[in-house]
This record gives sequence, C-alpha cells and structure tokens, in this order.
Amino acid sequence: MTQALQELIGMNREDMAAFLQGIGAESFRLGQLWHWVYQKGVCSFDEMTTMAKPMRESLRQSLTLKRPFIVKDMTSFDGTRKWLLRFSDAQEAEMVFIPEKDRGTLCVSSQVGCTLTCSFCHTGTQKLVRNLTAGEILGQLVLARDMLKDWTNPPIPRKITNIVMMGMGEPLYNYENVAKALKIMMDSEGVSLSRRKITLSTSGVVPMMGACGEDLGVNLAVSLHATNDELRNKLVPLNKKYPIAMLMEACRTYPGANNARRITFEYVMLKDVNDSVQEAKALIQLIKGIPAKVNLIPFNPWPGSPYERSSDEQIERFANVVMKAGYASPVRSPRGEDILAACGQLKSESVRLKWSERQQELQ
Ligand code: SAH
Ligand code: SF4
Repeated sequence: MTQALQELIGMNREDMAAFLQGIGAESFRLGQLWHWVYQKGVCSFDEMTTMAKPMRESLRQSLTLKRPFIVKDMTSFDGTRKWLLRFSDAQEAEMVFIPEKDRGTLCVSSQVGCTLTCSFCHTGTQKLVRNLTAGEILGQLVLARDMLKDWTNPPIPRKITNIVMMGMGEPLYNYENVAKALKIMMDSEGVSLSRRKITLSTSGVVPMMGACGEDLGVNLAVSLHATNDELRNKLVPLNKKYPIAMLMEACRTYPGANNARRITFEYVMLKDVNDSVQEAKALIQLIKGIPAKVNLIPFNPWPGSPYERSSDEQIERFANVVMKAGYASPVRSPRGEDILAACGQLKSESVRLKWSERQQELQ
C-alpha cells in the first residue's frame, strides 16, 4: 500500500527538521528545503537545484508541494480578483486579492464558513463549517503568489504587500492554525512578510486577543459595529458571550497597541440601524483612550440580506464626527462587488453542488 504524501506547505521549521531527521538527511538540508519552499515558491522537486538527484527523489517519495485547487478564478471590473478554492476533502473557501496604487492586499480565509452568524454577513449563513489547517491558510498566500507571479525578491516590488485575515471565518476560533501559518509568513528567510503588514480581524473573541498580540504582534482589527449591547447582540451574537465592556478592556490591554500601531475598529454602515450621529458620538466615547482608528465599511448586500447600505451623505456625517474627535475614519471603498468579493459577501457558492459530487470531481 502506498503511504499518503505529507504536505510541505504548512510545515514549520520543526516539522521539516523532524521529517528530514526521519529520512536520515543532514541537518543543513533544512535551510535548503525551507528556502526552496518558502522563498522561491517552487512547485516541483526538480527545481530544487541545490539538492542532488537522489535527495530530491527521496523527498518526492514522501512529500508533496500541492497547493489548494482552484475551482473558480474571477476578476472584477475594478481589478479585484476572487478565487474559490477546494481542499483535499472537497470543502471550499474563498480568497480575494485587492490591488491598489501603492499596495496589494490578500484577504485570507481562516475557516470554511463561520459558526458566528452575524446577521449582516453572508459567510455566517453557510452551513458547512470547519477550521482550515495551517497548510490551507498558508496555501492561499502561496497559491496567490503563484498566480500573480509574485515570488520575487527585492529590489523587485511585490504585488502582495499586505495580508488581512478578513476572509471567511473567525480567525481567533482557529487560533492555533492561524498562528502557525502567520509565523511561517513572517519568517524573514522565507515568505518574509512583516507583522506590520498583517492584520487580523476578530468579531471579539476576548480570551484569545491577548495571546494574538503577544505571540504574533500583528495589527488587530475589531469588528465593533454597534455601541450598545442590545444592538450588538443582534448584529454580532458573540456579544452575548463577550459584551462590549469586556471587549473594550481587551483592546485597552492589547499588547503592542500604541499611537504608531493603532487598533482598527471596523464599523459596518447599516441604514437606520447603527448609522446615526448619536451613535458616532457614542462610538468616540467608547474608544476614548485607546490608540485607535475607525474603518467605516458601507454594508455590502448579498442575495437575501436583511439590511440596506447607509447613504453616502450619512456615512460622511458619521465619519466627520469621528474625525473631529481626532480619530482617522476612512471609509472602505467596496471592491469587487460585481463578483461578490467585497467584505462579508464571501460564501462558497458551490455549496449547492452536493458534497459527494464534489468529491467525485476531485478524483
Ligand atoms: N470574522 C472576522 C473576520 C472576517 S469578516 C470578523 O468578523 O472580524 C471581515 C469584516 O467584514 C468584518 O469587520 C465584518 O464584520 C465585515 N462584514 C461582514 N459582512 C459584511 C457586509 N455584508 N458588509 C460589509 N462588511 C461586512
Ligand atoms: Fe463570522 Fe466575521 Fe461573518 Fe461574523 S462577520 S459571521 S464572525 S465571518
């Protein structure tokens, strides 16, 4: 019987070292393998030219450089790209690339679906849910670099300059795998993305926030969306478990937050629900004393969604109140709307295709 191949993408140094030791390879092979997988992004063992042929052969017998499978590749009129990805058990998730003038952001998923059912979010309506593995999370970036021909090193500028953990899922409900993937991304001899260029967005999983700051030191974005518990309970049901006061306390003590590295409060603008001037005033009271900025996200509708987007005028009024209080309050411009790639619109469309049918397709 042939043994299943182990996946290289997602292995950290310890995993690779243990593997190499297991096949009796010299310890210097670790640096070489790491370099080929994470700095050069090779897709085949034959490209590992610093390894002799017999060595490559023994790697090939036990390992695979396989990436997630692309089911759909869509490009919006504004240049935003969305890929629907399928993993080896036929589950699916989406990732989005948002090119801008001076940077390119990859929006990465942490779970298939999400258990948290925020009432304005498409992902929360998806039935199938599971955590992505570290390899599946990191595999998204690896694949995006393949697709965008972005395995370049300085002085050639990279296309993907920033990572946001804002795709499908709640990253702090899958902390271990997210942390492992992000640590590999931040390794300076590999993928080499600075923690300053990585932002993790959470709906407010209070007990995990401290570890995230201490362990990873990435930028934190908090999906606030309401200024009182009654409304937030409806919009973000997790609030019943970790109410606003508790969430604010976790933000105040977030390791590494200072004026140079502010916490981003995300606030989705829902018409006549949370967009009044009074609420803008309540918001600045709430975040007082926290090094913060506020990101206003015009609501992105999806088929059957129960809300409307606030008018541009109302968003501007709201933004002005926040700005006058001394907080940056940019309005996030919706990207890739025509391909349902904007915030909160992600949902694996082919859930409609039966899981068993997808399994067959994979074979
Ligand atoms: N689960 C995490 C990260 C993914 S969602 C979180 O909730 O923070 C990324 C951002 O998109 C969050 O701020 C989320 O509240 C917001 N969002 C979800 N649905 C949206 C929608 N329909 N329109 C605009 N923003 C939305
Ligand atoms: Fe999950 Fe975030 Fe969507 Fe809420 S907004 S359902 S936490 S993905």
